[in-house]
Amino acid sequence: MSASGTDRSQTPSSRSVIVVGGGIVGVASAWLLQRRGHRVLLIDPALGSDSSAETAPSASRAALGVLMGHVFRRSHGRGWQLRQRSLALWKSWSHSLASRGRPIAYRSGLLLLAHDGPELERQQTLLAERQKLGLPFSAWSLEQLQAIAPPLPAPALGGLFSAADGQIDPHQALEALHSDACAAGLTSLPQSVTTIEPRRRGNGWQVRLLDGSVLEAEWLVLAAGIEGQSLLAALESQGARGAAVRAGPPLKLEPVLGQALELEVEASVAQAIGQPPPHQNDSDTIPGWPGVVVWQGMCLVPRPDLPGGRRLWLGSSLEPGREPDPAALQSLRDLGGAAPDWLLRARVVRQWQGLRPRPFGRPAPLLECLAPGLLLASGHYRNGVLLAPASAEWVCTQVESSL
Ligand SMILES: Cc1cc2nc3c(=O)[nH]c(=O)nc-3n(C[C@H](O)[C@H](O)[C@H](O)COP(=O)(O)OP(=O)(O)OC[C@H]3O[C@@H](n4cnc5c(N)ncnc54)[C@H](O)[C@@H]3O)c2cc1C
Repeated sequence: MSASGTDRSQTPSSRSVIVVGGGIVGVASAWLLQRRGHRVLLIDPALGSDSSAETAPSASRAALGVLMGHVFRRSHGRGWQLRQRSLALWKSWSHSLASRGRPIAYRSGLLLLAHDGPELERQQTLLAERQKLGLPFSAWSLEQLQAIAPPLPAPALGGLFSAADGQIDPHQALEALHSDACAAGLTSLPQSVTTIEPRRRGNGWQVRLLDGSVLEAEWLVLAAGIEGQSLLAALESQGARGAAVRAGPPLKLEPVLGQALELEVEASVAQAIGQPPPHQNDSDTIPGWPGVVVWQGMCLVPRPDLPGGRRLWLGSSLEPGREPDPAALQSLRDLGGAAPDWLLRARVVRQWQGLRPRPFGRPAPLLECLAPGLLLASGHYRNGVLLAPASAEWVCTQVESSL
């Protein structure tokens, strides 16, 4: 498959595919399948509605869009490969979408702060590994960090700057992929799927919708995030029909709630945090603000492109379960006591939350062929926006392996 993956027009051998779930993983899969000439139906009750981040259950509509591809603790294995492939695909997909009038805002640069000695040591090891690979990484000393205005969270001991990581706008990405797929012939249905089951006659799968109607296709892609588990549990409880699904322990996804805030900073601060991050070749020169800043798992994401030019996203907490914890939100708001004064003075414009699907007892994400014609693309946990392209490519490869 080419980097853009979109070089194949519809052929008589194209497959019919139903994608359940229109979060970033489902939409990316539907887009790639449709662009490659398959006949795709995307089903999600949130499609077509004016769903706001405050109310939508989709994790993707709550995401910050941070692409932490290179600042990953490993340099090999499946997780690393998915990250590398996804970053390359996001680049070529964005280019191809922009050429058709659907740009996705991308901001490069990510500074990972070290809050203690062990973290600083880990960063030094990572720096050596990434520099060996020729990636634009640099270590920023305490003195360099202290020279940055507005001040960073304290007490940071040092930092690792990656010019090749960054952030995309997840809402724009969803919209661009969805509208581009629709222009290529995608059918999307704002409905809820209540059950999935093997087709009664012949190969393939069928879904029953909330309104009672039944739809069929040769392939079914389950990308319903945290809710995919209940659809699978209902299938597995169908005795012989459910037995079509792979043997093994039932798949379990745990909800991990994340909260996030949109802040409006003072005008003087906005100018500094909205500056473009350093150019790849200047990664040793310290600018006003280095792009996304990550402090103890919490992300500060400048959004100078949002109305007023003074916005900053701050997220996200990691809370087990489905109910938001006010204490976790407070800790996010003041960065666990490390927030600089300018951040504490910022006005909260909006707050939201979302549920991440975390696989229980297995590594994220879950990309599995559960039965002939049934694919699971879920359990992305913290990195679904980052990993959506490689996941979609995996889906497409599975479908096309049957041609
Ligand atoms: C606050 C927060 C911040 C985050 N920040 C980042 C980040 O910076 N970078 C990053 O890479 N990741 C981030 N994530 C993680 C990321 O959001 C998820 O990994 C990703 O969105 C998962 O996408 P998905 O498509 O699998 O699931 P979802 O986005 O949850 O999509 C599932 C979809 O399925 C639909 N659905 C459910 N049930 C049914 C049904 N029965 N019938 C039809 N449709 C159904 C839902 O309506 C939903 O739209 C963040 C998550 C949170 C909560």
